[in-house]
Amino acid sequence: MHELGIVTHVMKTLKPVAQENRVTKIGSVTLQVGEVSGVVNDLFVDCWNYFREKDPLFSGAELIIETLPAVTFCENCKQEYPTVQYGRTCPYCGSGETYLVTGNECLIKEITAETADDEAAETEEVEEADEAEEAAEAEEAEEAKEEPEA
Ligand SMILES: [Zn+2]
Repeated sequence: MHELGIVTHVMKTLKPVAQENRVTKIGSVTLQVGEVSGVVNDLFVDCWNYFREKDPLFSGAELIIETLPAVTFCENCKQEYPTVQYGRTCPYCGSGETYLVTGNECLIKEITAETADDEAAETEEVEEADEAEEAAEAEEAEEAKEEPEA
């Protein structure tokens, strides 16, 4: 259920941003997910693939997950260490006065998208709207073949 919540949250967050930027179709979404965030990547992708088809904006959009390493800071000796390996106890001084610095986050890093700017320029005459839409769809198919920007 954790994954489901994040998927719906990401889509809710991106939708108004896409509308503001005249994005009609999202190609991919890259998320940075902390190592100890509790997200199970396979479940996450399954969930994404299910929900993306419920909204034309996200239909076919690829979910890319980047794992962020978890780092814990020790208050006692002021050193950082890898959380997954040592947990809450500092490997340098044995102190338990530690806190997580990174590793619990789930951030939207970037999206690739196609804008509707060309379509808007071509749909001034209402009667031709259908034709223009078809043209735009053909353009989208063309663009989809290109490599997304890094
Ligand atoms: Zn320490």
